[in-house]
Amino acid sequence: MKPRVLVTGASGFVAGHCVQLLLDDGYRVRGTVRSLGNEAKVGHLRQLEDADGNSIELVEADLNSDAGWDVAVRDCEYVLHVASPFPSETPDDESELITPAVEGTRRVLAAAANAGVKRVVLTSSMAAIAYGHGDAQGRTFTEADWSDPDRCEPYQKSKTLAERAAWSFIESLPQNQKDQKDQKDQKLELAVINPGFVLGPMMSAVGGTSAELISRLLNRGMPACPQLGWAVVDVRDVARAHLLAMTTPEAAGNRYICAGEHIWLQDLAKLLAGEFNPHGYRVPTGHLPYWALWLAARFDKTMRMTLEFVGKKELASHEKARRELGWEPRPARETLVDMGYSAIALGLAPDRMGYRETLAKSDEAGRSTA
Ligand code: NDP
Repeated sequence: MKPRVLVTGASGFVAGHCVQLLLDDGYRVRGTVRSLGNEAKVGHLRQLEDADGNSIELVEADLNSDAGWDVAVRDCEYVLHVASPFPSETPDDESELITPAVEGTRRVLAAAANAGVKRVVLTSSMAAIAYGHGDAQGRTFTEADWSDPDRCEPYQKSKTLAERAAWSFIESLPQNQKDQKDQKDQKLELAVINPGFVLGPMMSAVGGTSAELISRLLNRGMPACPQLGWAVVDVRDVARAHLLAMTTPEAAGNRYICAGEHIWLQDLAKLLAGEFNPHGYRVPTGHLPYWALWLAARFDKTMRMTLEFVGKKELASHEKARRELGWEPRPARETLVDMGYSAIALGLAPDRMGYRETLAKSDEAGRSTA
């Protein structure tokens, strides 16, 4: 049996895939959630199993409180600290994001250091790299870049300050003087993953910010596509990057951009439309001019959050992850199409092609051959 790994915020989009991959790879997995009683958020986790039928152990912990973290990290060799608020609307008070992101990261790291955890992999973001640089059009960002928190929106600020806090915490730990063979006496290591915009199949109908986009496209919740674009990455590839950063010895002390090529929303919509529109969906592929977005933003807080990013390209190099971790992103079409099918399977979009019935039949066939 491989060692135990703690995944924080296990109910989330990215964390769920980390849990799945860890179980598939034979690790024992513990996950933190804010409420064990919230079946809508944790139910899907209880269904996940490894090859021997072992499932995840769930414990309660909130980034805003000390309670539960010591118990959560106990007997873990690794921690994937994925939890952080990722809202689709900017809150009126930025501390709603910054306090749990920063103080929560310190809490998790302190508990991990006390418990003799070997390595923490922190889920940071391109938000901690590519924002607040003024006019950076055409510039390709690398791990050497840092967002300027004083010139960022609250979410980008929360991710930048949280990652900074994590590196400062590690630097503040005393150097290990003891026997290097004794794992418990080694200094805690940190590796950081900086994903681009994460898309791909969803495990739970309680969607996060990424789910909102696909749902709007498949449900025609927007008439056309504003000129927004991101360096997109598949959630399964982000999970794989976390495991590679966890086990690759040289990853300690490093941050890794995990993001593919920049893609405009209109091109993402066209990939989705190519698969689903022949089945009766009406994924919008037209161009929404800025003035129309500005008008919509007066009534729609999510749209309001996007205004300052119109026309901006997010260019990032994942060369370091490729070179040092052997990490490769998959093509965006696979990501979009699989995400679309998962949205239909979970009821986040109408089923115009009998997909849920097909899935139910193949599940039944799988069970009867097992
Ligand atoms: P989700 O919203 O699906 O997941 C966020 C998780 O954080 C949830 O499990 C949530 O718990 C948990 N969380 C939020 N606030 C607290 C808190 N106060 N205490 C404990 N847990 C908390 O988003 P993603 O899966 O997309 O995001 C996961 C990570 O990836 C975040 O760190 C995010 O910043 C980062 N990221 C995401 C990107 C994306 O495009 N999705 C891009 C780059 C980075 P609960 O279920 O109880 O709400």
